[in-house]
Amino acid sequence: MNIQNNIPLKDFTTFRIGGNARFFCAVTTEDELIEAIGFSKKEKVPFFILGGGSNILVADKGYSGLVIKMDIQGTSYVTEGHSVLVTAAAGHSWDALVAETVEKKIYGFENLSAIPGTVGATPVQNIGAYGSEVRQFIESVYALDVKKDEYVTLTNAECKFGYRDSMFKKEKGRYVILSVTYRLSTKEKLNLEYKDLQTYFRTTNKKKTLKNVREAVIEIRKEKFPNLDIHGTAGSFFKNPLVTLEKAQSIRERYSEIVVYPVNAKFVKIPLAWILDVMCKMKGVRKGNAGLFKNQALVVVNYGNCTADEVITLAQEMVDKVYEKTGIEIEPEVEYVS
Ligand code: NAP
Repeated sequence: MNIQNNIPLKDFTTFRIGGNARFFCAVTTEDELIEAIGFSKKEKVPFFILGGGSNILVADKGYSGLVIKMDIQGTSYVTEGHSVLVTAAAGHSWDALVAETVEKKIYGFENLSAIPGTVGATPVQNIGAYGSEVRQFIESVYALDVKKDEYVTLTNAECKFGYRDSMFKKEKGRYVILSVTYRLSTKEKLNLEYKDLQTYFRTTNKKKTLKNVREAVIEIRKEKFPNLDIHGTAGSFFKNPLVTLEKAQSIRERYSEIVVYPVNAKFVKIPLAWILDVMCKMKGVRKGNAGLFKNQALVVVNYGNCTADEVITLAQEMVDKVYEKTGIEIEPEVEYVS
């Protein structure tokens, strides 16, 4: 394993922003991971596990520890009746896995198509899209517990999943995820509850098949997210807020057109893009080279040579404006690496 010095991290992120890693290595086996962690201990520097770099903002001054790029690859399939247990290594591309399962006519992941990043990142923020969340499918997560220095297999319940949340976020740095086992199904079951999907099938007249749902999600996402070949972005910068029914009602009194989605008996979800567009009038706002994407205000875009400081300034303005207009404190979805 080769430990390199002063490697530009912007090349490893979809935001294409950020300074250098003081130390950098890529690991392709568990043994290399152990070796890399040993190096960080010896040098007395922290380490950071990098997956697809699709949900991080790296500071302009970079990272003064060791960045470990998780590159362990591979998938395996075990069939149990109608169930299929799919195990994928942490460095495997998430969308390649989704494509592979759809190709094999296995149901479950299709609504989670075209999400950039790696398998190892999926449990951390419990990725979700178009009415599906990855926690519905996670059987177990195999990880290295750095604190106890042992390998562990965590059950779904032990991962304590929530909306874009899990125990891995709270216990930051404790676990290095090595592989994830998902339980999928060969039985036909499609989830078309989201309006965007219904509109797609109504307007295209395509058959509602597993393959076509994946295609639909890919098409819809193309509209809502910038083309990564042209602009850098880490997707949604903030989580959609969960608010009390009373809070939603107080907003409805001023904005009767507000659409909310039930979460449980006490909370509803409000689309933050709507708050930013309608209540904060922030549609298309730019700060230097950072801006809100015109088709989806939640998405912060690097419009060319943008710095992390420019993104932070814009993000702070979003936080302040939303608070001023609604009293809601929004939480970032993107992780700041410094
Ligand atoms: P959208 O479809 O415009 O939806 C905006 C908000 O409304 C989201 O909070 C969404 O909940 C909610 N919503 C819409 N239809 C709903 C329904 N039928 N039932 C319950 N809730 C509903 O969102 P978008 O920003 O364009 O993103 C598209 C999808 O990609 C969304 O599902 C979004 O969450 C997902 N996404 C996920 C990540 C991630 O996992 N890190 C990042 C970016 C976008 P949900 O958030 O629960 O869907």
